This record gives sequence, structure tokens and C-alpha cells, in this order.
Amino acid sequence: MNSSLGWLGKSVSVGVRSRSSHMRSSIQLKSLRELGLMREAGLVVAQALDLVRQAVKPGVTTGELDQLVVNHFASVSAVPLFKGVPSSIKGKPSFPAVVCASVNEQVVHGIPGSRILKEGDVVSIDTGCRLNGWCGDSAFTFAVGNVSLEKQRLLDVTRETLAIAIVAMKSAKTWSVVAREMERYVRQQGMSVIEQFVGHGIGQSMHEEPQVPNYVSDSLRKQDFPLEPGLVLAIEPMVALGTRNVRVLPDGWTVETTDRRAAAHFEHTVAMTSEGPRILTLLESA
Ligand code: MG
Ligand code: MG
Repeated sequence: MNSSLGWLGKSVSVGVRSRSSHMRSSIQLKSLRELGLMREAGLVVAQALDLVRQAVKPGVTTGELDQLVVNHFASVSAVPLFKGVPSSIKGKPSFPAVVCASVNEQVVHGIPGSRILKEGDVVSIDTGCRLNGWCGDSAFTFAVGNVSLEKQRLLDVTRETLAIAIVAMKSAKTWSVVAREMERYVRQQGMSVIEQFVGHGIGQSMHEEPQVPNYVSDSLRKQDFPLEPGLVLAIEPMVALGTRNVRVLPDGWTVETTDRRAAAHFEHTVAMTSEGPRILTLLESA
């Protein structure tokens, strides 16, 4: 873990690496062969989320969704990335499950278990695996049965924010241009970008440089990075209906909005190539 707040990374304001030259030199660019291997890992993650998608309905527990992913990863000899990640909070247990399941006001890092999903909930499922030494990481927020128009808009806006980022990568030279478009879109919709957590580089490790924020800050301007072939990013906008402020529950993991209004989280592992961005965690190759 490269973060004291959990594996999504943390606010770039911490500034351990403040010089962009240092940041760039620590980014590991991948060869075409390596991108092929990362696609295989990404496909396994996409299949896992598709199994979850088919299973989400009122009456299902978050633990049952976790078990589906446990079984899928085992069936293809993929190693789960989340189970056993140490807590960044002293004295708290390591993460006990293979998926994060975050319901309604929970933003990220919810622990799956006996909670029964009910009509009108939204549940964010985040998971990752390592296959043949390479990692994939993806998340999707699902509606449980019929949800309110407000929650459906939240899902639509968050998913669209991720799509806007990937389209923007076709022409943007640096990440800050993409982050600005994501932030602008969310604000236009009257919602908030969660700033406490950010995306990350990914490769043989789940978390590599650089940090990939969904908003522009002074520290991003200092740590901006070029979108060049071989760069692989886990891009993961988290959007809230109300406040962007979050807190961690006493379990040491679950992050919720302080106003307890709903949040959503969508993530893809995306590779830059000479022909533009390629999503590695889609079920079907684009
Ligand atoms: Mg991630
Ligand atoms: Mg993830």
C-alpha cells in the first residue's frame, strides 16, 4: 500500500513526491506484450463484475456477491488483490474480503457480509485480481431493483464521468486536462467529486505511480504527468449527491459521506497506446 488512507490512494496534497521529474521517472510504462497480459487480468475482473451484475437483486447479501467473485477468481487461478491488505489505521484488521461492497452513503471500502440488499439501494462493487503476475482493477455501482430518480442520476453521472475521462484521453496531452473535464462535468450536474481518494497507476502491483485524481488541484498541477503509450491507469471517479466530505467507520475501512447522502464509484483499468486509450476491464474488447 502506498497510502495511509487505503488502496485507492490518497489526496495528492500529501506531496511525498512534489517534483514532477521525480514523479515521471517513477511511472512504469508497459510494453505491448505486457498490455496483453494486463488485458487478460482485466478480463477476469470484468467477468467477476458481470457475475455480480447478474446476481444483484433485493434479498441478496453483500457476502454472497463477494463469494461469487471468490469462486470466479479461484476457477481461473487469479489471485485476489484486496484480501489481506493491511489497514492504514493502527490496530484495525486487514481487509477481510475479495470485493469492496459499499451501499448507499458508503463511498468505497465497504466490507461485504450479512447485509441484505433491498429495493432502492445502490451498491458499489470494487474488485481486483492478479493473473500471471499482472493486475486488473474495476468497480461498478449497481441499482438494486428500482431506485429513486435521484440515485439513478447519480449512477448515470458517475458512469458518464468515467466515460468522459476516457474520451478526453484521446486528445489530452496530460492528465490534468482530463481531470478538469471530469470535475467540470460533475459540478455542472450539481454533484460533488470525492477528493479524499484518487485513482492510481497499475501493473505488476495494484498501486503504482502516479496518483490519478478526479479533480484539479495545485498539487496535481505540480505532479501532472503525460499521457504516453504504455501508461496504465486505474481511473475511478467517486461522486456524491451531497457533500464531498467523508469519514471512516469504526471498522477501519468503510468510507461514508458525512451527510449520509448516496455516493457512486465507477472504475476501469485503462491503457494508453499509440492508437489512443484502451479499456482493459471491459467484458468485450473495444
Ligand atoms: Mg483502484
Ligand atoms: Mg478498484
